[in-house]
Amino acid sequence: MSKKVGIPKGLLYYNFYPMWKAFFEELGAEVVTSSDTCKKIIDDGVKTCVDETCLPVKTFMGHVIDLKEKGVDYIFVPRVISVERHRYLCSKFLGLPDLVRNLVSDLPPIIDMKIDFYRGDDFMKREILRVGKLFINDVSKIKDAYEKSLKMQRTFECIVREGFSNTEAIKIMEGEKLDANAKGDLKIALLAHPYDIMDDYLSMGLINRLKNMGAYVLTTNMIERDKIEKGAGKLQKDLFWTYGRDILGAGKYFIESEDIDGVISVSAFGCGPDSITEDLLERDYKRDGRIPFMSITIDEHTGEAGLNTRLEAFIDLLRWRKGEIMA
Ligand code: SF4
Repeated sequence: MSKKVGIPKGLLYYNFYPMWKAFFEELGAEVVTSSDTCKKIIDDGVKTCVDETCLPVKTFMGHVIDLKEKGVDYIFVPRVISVERHRYLCSKFLGLPDLVRNLVSDLPPIIDMKIDFYRGDDFMKREILRVGKLFINDVSKIKDAYEKSLKMQRTFECIVREGFSNTEAIKIMEGEKLDANAKGDLKIALLAHPYDIMDDYLSMGLINRLKNMGAYVLTTNMIERDKIEKGAGKLQKDLFWTYGRDILGAGKYFIESEDIDGVISVSAFGCGPDSITEDLLERDYKRDGRIPFMSITIDEHTGEAGLNTRLEAFIDLLRWRKGEIMA
């Protein structure tokens, strides 16, 4: 019988799920995801973590608990250190398997694959073989599984660049037919980590709310790499957090863009890196003064009514600037 590998639907799930799924399935495992985020998952995560922990990590813990209750053989909690040379991820990712082991009791074995591209291909190949051998003792099959998983990731990223959200791209890769991102008459850039805006429960359906108000939503992942690099190249000092740098790079790119109507920055309560990137972005947009900018912080207590009011006011402002409504 194939072994069940649980993948929590939180944090980098939104960046890498198709790749991870392909890898484990090619090794003969059955991949099981945690349930969609709901009140119980958040409550379980909040009870498990200290108050100061950021909301996405609390939510991730809730997903781990959900998988434990589902009865899987392993839970995949990678230690993602770097996804490119010279830059790192936030420290929460570096210590995630340790956090999980210390905060959640009675867990099945954790697969804590180290993902550290800074240390080069040989290091990654050793890690891939170490994890692959938990399932099969065939080096060439493990290498094939890795190659296939990289291919799936490239396909996933192409779908996102076509204008689908990460969540939609995951659904498309699972066989769902979805319509292309409808082109609303307002173009709004959402600057955020995918796990803050792709999780419908955490973000209170932010992307769909904006679409329903007539917006065409662009996320950081939809922008071509060279544009992000161009934007990031304008930073006075390079940022060593990969994803924070991507958000800032996208923000710098949009500030010079002629065809964006507004920018919304979304961050999670308790996030150290976001408090810096958001402040830098806000200063830039205020100084420039041409593109309306709004920041939203999500936490476990954010209410839908308050969010809707702010979004409606922002959309009205954008329409007024376009001369579509009177003051
Ligand atoms: S970047 Fe912020 S939100 Fe993401 S894991 Fe780190 S502290 Fe949490």
